[in-house]
Amino acid sequence: MQELRRIVGDAHVLVEDADVIVYEQDGSILQAMPEIVVLPADVTQVSEVIRAARRAGFPIVPRGSGTGLAGGAVPAGGGVVVSLARLNRLLGVDYRNRTAELEPGVINLEVTKGVAKAGFFYAPDPSSQAACSIGGNLANNSGGPHTLAYGVTTNHALGVEVVLHDGSIVWLGGTVPDVPGYDLCGVFVGSEGTLGIVTRAIVRLMRAREDVRTLLAIFDSMDSATQAVVDITAAGIVPAALEMMDKTTIEAVERGAPAGYPRDAEAVLLLEVEGVREYTERALRMAHEVCTRAGARQVRAARDEQERQALWKGRKGAFGALGTLAPNYYVMDGVVPRSKLPQTMRAVAEIAEQYQVRIANVFHAGDGNLHPNILFDIRVPGALDRVIEAGAAILRACVAVGGSLTGEHGIGLEKRDYMEWLFSKDDLEAMTRVRLAFDPQRAFNPGKIFPTPVSCGEVRRAPARIPEGLWI
Ligand SMILES: Cc1cc2nc3c(=O)[nH]c(=O)nc-3n(C[C@H](O)[C@H](O)[C@H](O)COP(=O)(O)OP(=O)(O)OC[C@H]3O[C@@H](n4cnc5c(N)ncnc54)[C@H](O)[C@@H]3O)c2cc1C
Repeated sequence: MQELRRIVGDAHVLVEDADVIVYEQDGSILQAMPEIVVLPADVTQVSEVIRAARRAGFPIVPRGSGTGLAGGAVPAGGGVVVSLARLNRLLGVDYRNRTAELEPGVINLEVTKGVAKAGFFYAPDPSSQAACSIGGNLANNSGGPHTLAYGVTTNHALGVEVVLHDGSIVWLGGTVPDVPGYDLCGVFVGSEGTLGIVTRAIVRLMRAREDVRTLLAIFDSMDSATQAVVDITAAGIVPAALEMMDKTTIEAVERGAPAGYPRDAEAVLLLEVEGVREYTERALRMAHEVCTRAGARQVRAARDEQERQALWKGRKGAFGALGTLAPNYYVMDGVVPRSKLPQTMRAVAEIAEQYQVRIANVFHAGDGNLHPNILFDIRVPGALDRVIEAGAAILRACVAVGGSLTGEHGIGLEKRDYMEWLFSKDDLEAMTRVRLAFDPQRAFNPGKIFPTPVSCGEVRRAPARIPEGLWI
C-alpha cells in the first residue's frame, strides 16, 4: 500500500469501502468489491503500479469508464483495480496520414468532437460513446451503429502501447495498417484486459462524408421488419447503419425522451446511408422500395439535420430509457447470421413467453447483432434467477443457428461459462496459450473469458463457476 501511495500519491489510492464501492460494478449485473483502486497518471506510473502489485501477489483488473456489459471490469478475484481515467489526453492528430494518437482514458465521443471541424471522424461509435473510454473500446473490440459499414474497433486501431505483467512497456502494431510480422495489435484488441494495460493508441480517422441520409421504416410485424433487413443487404445496399427497435423499446423511448416513433408499431428500422449525393439518393430510394415490399406500413426520410438528429437521439438513448419500464434490465449480446434474424427473433419471443419475462429489443440489425434486454425487478424473489436462465436460453438459440455469444460486449465474466458451447477443449487451450505468452501468471483480469481456470501459477484464482454472490 505504501508503495502504491509513493507511486501515484495518497489521493489516488482508494481503499475505504465508501470509495471503492463505486468500482464494484460495471454496466452488467455482476459485482465484486475491489480490495484497492489505483489511479495512475501516466505510463511510468502504470508500469510501477503493476510491478508493485505483482510483487505483493495481487491480480490486476484494468478499468476504463465501467460501462462494459459483461462484467469485464468487475474484480471477481479481488485485487487491484487500475483505473485509466486520468490518462485522458488526445496527444496528437495527423490529418495528412489520417491518424490520432491518444491515451486510453479519452472518451470515445471526444475523438470525433476533436477532429470534426477539420472534416474527420472516428468511426467506432458505441451507443455509450458519450461515456465509454478508448481503452475499454480497444479491450472489448467495441462496435456501434456505424460499424456495419466501417468495421469494429480492430479495423481502426493501428498500434497500441501496452504495459505487460512485469511492468515492461511495449508497442504492438505501428502507424500504418500493415506492419511486418504477427499482427500483435490485432491479438491485443478484443483481449478484454487479460493481456496487459493499454496506455496509448494510434487510431485511424475517416473523412466525413459529403451526404448523410436517414430513413425510418415502420412495421406492423417483427417478421416483416427482420425480413427487410435481410432483403436490404441482399439488394446490395450497404447502409452505414441499420438499427432496429421493437414495440417495448419504442414505448420506453417515447416515455423517456420522445423521438416521434409510433407507439403502435411492432418494430421500427433506422437506416442510414452515407457517401456522395448521387449514391445516397439512389441507396435511399432502393431501401425505401425494399422496406415497402417487405411490408413496411410507412417509410419516411428525415427532411433535415434536426429531424435526423432527433431520430438518432431516440436510438442512442434507448438503453437508458428502459429504466422507465423496469428498475433493472439485463442486456444480452448474441449475434446470428443476418439471414437467421427472423427465426431468431421468433425464438426470443418464445423464450420471453416460456420464462415469463418482458424483453425489449434494440439492436444492430444489419450486423445480426441482437440486444434483447430482459426487464426485471431485482426485489421480486426468484426474478434474477429466471432472467439469467432466459438470457442463457437466448444465447443458446443464437449458437444453435450458427451464431455466437457476443457481437461486441465481450465474454468477460458473464459469459465465460458458456464458452464451451462454442469452443472445444483444444480451442480453449490454444487461446490460453496465447494468453500465457503475454501474461504467464494470469495477473491481468483472472477469471475472465475462460470457463475453467487451471493453475499454471495463476495469481489468485477466481472461482470456476460464477458464484451466487457475484450477481447483483
Ligand atoms: C447504454 C450502453 C450502450 C452500449 N452500447 C454499446 C455499443 O453500441 N457497442 C458496443 O460495442 N458496446 C456498447 N456498450 C458496452 C460498453 O460501453 C463497451 O464495451 C465499452 O467499450 C466499454 O468501455 P469502458 O471504458 O466503459 O470499459 P470498462 O467497462 O471499464 O472495461 C471493459 C473491459 O476493458 C478492459 N479495459 C478497460 N480499459 C483498459 C485498458 N486501458 N487496457 C486494457 N484493458 C482495459 C477492462 O478490464 C474490461 O475487461 C454499451 C454500454 C452501455 C451501458
